[in-house]
Amino acid sequence: MRNCSSGKVCHDNRTIAEEELVRVLAKYGERAGSPNGIYLCEICGFYHLTSSSRETGYIHTPEFRERIRRAALENDWDDRWK
Ligand SMILES: [Zn+2]
Repeated sequence: MRNCSSGKVCHDNRTIAEEELVRVLAKYGERAGSPNGIYLCEICGFYHLTSSSRETGYIHTPEFRERIRRAALENDWDDRWK
C-alpha cells in the first residue's frame, strides 16, 4: 500500500483517480467538502482526489455527469442485492 504524507489515497494514474471521483460523487452526491477534482501530487507522484480543485470544469461536462448518473444506478443495484 502506497502512502503519502498528505494522508490521501494514492491513485496510479488519472484514469483510475477519475473513476474513483465518479464513484464517490455517485455514492455521496455533491455537497460541501465533497471532491470536485483530481491532482497530481508533488509529494508522492500519484493522483489524489481533492475538494479544492480550481479546474472543476470537466466534472460539469455532460459526459462526466452521465458517468456519475450511470455509477449511481449501479450503486442502486448493489444495494438491492445486499
Ligand atoms: Zn501524495
